[in-house]
Amino acid sequence: MSAGDSSPAGVLKVAVDCPLRALLDYLPPPGMLATDLPAGARVRVPMGTRSAVGVIVAHAAHSQLESGRLRPVTELLDATPLFDAALLELLQWTASYYHHPPGEVCAAALPAALREGQSATAQEQGLQLTAAGSAALAAGEPQRAPRQRELLALLAAHETGLSAAQLEETWPGWRAAARALGERGWVELVLREAQPAAAGHAGGALSAAPTPVLELSEPQARAVAAIDACAGRYGTFLLQGATGSGKTEVYLRLVMRALERGAGALVLVPEIGLTPQLLERFRSRLGVPIAVLHSGLSDRERLAAWRAARAGVARVVIGTRSAVFAPLQTLGLIVVDEEHDSSYKQQEGGCRYSARDLAVRRAQRAGVPVVLGSATPALESLHNANLGRYQQLPLPRRADQAAPPRIALIDLRAHAVHAGLAGPVTQAIERHLASDGQVLVYLNRRGYAPTLLCTSCGWIAPCTECDARLTVHRGAAQLRCHICGAAQPLPTRCGRCGFAVRPVGQGTERIAETLAAMFPHAPLVRLDRDTVHGADDVEAVMNALLDGSARILVGTQMVTKGHHFPGVSLVAVINADQGLFSADFRAAERLAQTIVQVAGRAGRGTRAGEVLIQTEYPEHPLLQSLIHSGYEGFAADALAEREAARWPPFSRLALLRASGCTATAALDFLRHARDCAGPAPAARLLGPVPASMARRAGRYHAQLLVEHAGRGELHHFLDHWLPAIEQLPDARRVRWALDVDPLDIQ
Ligand code: ADP
Ligand code: ZN
Ligand code: ZN
Repeated sequence: MSAGDSSPAGVLKVAVDCPLRALLDYLPPPGMLATDLPAGARVRVPMGTRSAVGVIVAHAAHSQLESGRLRPVTELLDATPLFDAALLELLQWTASYYHHPPGEVCAAALPAALREGQSATAQEQGLQLTAAGSAALAAGEPQRAPRQRELLALLAAHETGLSAAQLEETWPGWRAAARALGERGWVELVLREAQPAAAGHAGGALSAAPTPVLELSEPQARAVAAIDACAGRYGTFLLQGATGSGKTEVYLRLVMRALERGAGALVLVPEIGLTPQLLERFRSRLGVPIAVLHSGLSDRERLAAWRAARAGVARVVIGTRSAVFAPLQTLGLIVVDEEHDSSYKQQEGGCRYSARDLAVRRAQRAGVPVVLGSATPALESLHNANLGRYQQLPLPRRADQAAPPRIALIDLRAHAVHAGLAGPVTQAIERHLASDGQVLVYLNRRGYAPTLLCTSCGWIAPCTECDARLTVHRGAAQLRCHICGAAQPLPTRCGRCGFAVRPVGQGTERIAETLAAMFPHAPLVRLDRDTVHGADDVEAVMNALLDGSARILVGTQMVTKGHHFPGVSLVAVINADQGLFSADFRAAERLAQTIVQVAGRAGRGTRAGEVLIQTEYPEHPLLQSLIHSGYEGFAADALAEREAARWPPFSRLALLRASGCTATAALDFLRHARDCAGPAPAARLLGPVPASMARRAGRYHAQLLVEHAGRGELHHFLDHWLPAIEQLPDARRVRWALDVDPLDIQ
């Protein structure tokens, strides 16, 4: 076979939505040249016996395949490219960096309807005047039908005609008149491209009174000036400031400046559904249409928002992880709020990309500044700042704010503990309630109790599908598995000996019950996934705290997600110890971030806050450095530890994960994968080992860690290793996936 048979019409390299790692070669449709079909447009292609949708990535003169085996594309779906050159390049880079099939990466960047081949532009019915119609109107026709005449005149006044929707609004009953006029050939009904409405623009959001413009503090002004001076050039800025230091105000100014220059802005946030306040603030301040993209949207809403961004109707896009691929007509700025948040990393299924890292990459390619904002930046980002790759812009507390909260450790071994609360904590709650404060009690465990124990034989209610204990949910009278979601009625007797069982340990439901009994006059609200399901529930909790009808808030991690609780004067962290002794080298970082984020909710009003952290290990170095030198001090120590242990950011990791139906299947596959790397692999391979929770939902999980000091070398190794793994016979018998720059390595 002669490699590279050339085709006179040229060849299209297409990223087809399928699990193949390569681009596929197709011929243009008969009578067309490959170059007639633009890169970035979608095509429908034959795939075996079915048809699929793909995106044209490139053109080539010839293919590695014999020309007889090449098939033409069935249909060109877009006259103009869906992805511009920069976005297309970002998608290709994503596929190669995360070693993921390019067709799946392109598909993930599109709303479902476009993945399936629907039109990228919205269509609408429009009514237009014909030439005969203008002539008739000029001649004073139709004389005996005033309504028809009125409609003709209305259309004559609108050069492009009127859409059915506009007519419906201004001229109810227009259809009868239009039908009569149509029969005489004076008007015609056409299907045409609609101007997409900006999602979220309707609904009166803009009629809200504009918030008065604040005068920037000096550090805010410095940050805005530094980033603004970078307009039109790439630069990464690490905007570091505690909650309430005014980061969002800085984002708003920068977005306004971008709009003034005629450019658009992409703003990434961790979880939009739960932070309606942020969206509202952008809407009322910017006064321009905003496209909102997040996972809580229906397919139709997502399509509408995507179209609005692509058409340039919405020049500002606010969205969660996948919005990093949003099409914007002219990108002038990217903002990543709470850049340390782990939800920016896709953790399971599909391409496991980091939207934060891709945002930096996108800014680089587009030549625009990118702002990473956080009170607790990821150690990776701080390291990049230390190396001078990112410019650090600190935002100290504003002068008009209360002093920073006083943080103290409460030794659980030294005090009487009642129902999970140490004496000094109970007393502090009483004190703050008595002086009109509000109290936030943080515990990262929902449910009533994490364990159901038999006091006679020691039996603990297990999940039958996971290596996990079942959590007691007392209100719902259920035992639930927080790993696989299985649920069963709450038993009163031991599953083994029939003796009475009792819940052991604390969950938010139980702490709330205890506090309600201790402080019956202080109304309490809960913020966790069992009690809060969407933006409305969050708003109800927020309002109860703002208007003072609630005095105590009990919550999980959810309380750290962007909410402001101005009346909270005391924060109690029930248990800091879960993250202190983990096998995951990132656990300490996550714990420190959580503590600092929770502590940041205190004392935002006029009074200084107090933060009490319950622990059995008050002498632990992590807690000590956090208390005495803050997140900065902790981060410096943690980075030194990482360097000594050769963990990221001082090395690069990839994790090969596998799961199978038996305990050995996944491990065997990973052993074979390891063997593929040869006797002296170019990267360090650690494992395979069972995952720290090996059995989940009936499947057995294991992993193999790949490490190299250099990023280039690691990817070079993966490029050669993965094709070999794909050839392994058991690669089809287990589920496996590669996770580049994994966040969670347990
Ligand atoms: P962050 O995003 O860092 O949490 P915000 O921008 O939300 O901080 O600011 C917190 C609060 O302080 C908001 O209510 C905001 O309106 C107010 N604020 C921000 N900047 C200023 C300023 N320069 N002067 C007065 N108030 C400000
Ligand atoms: Zn028992
Ligand atoms: Zn389970």
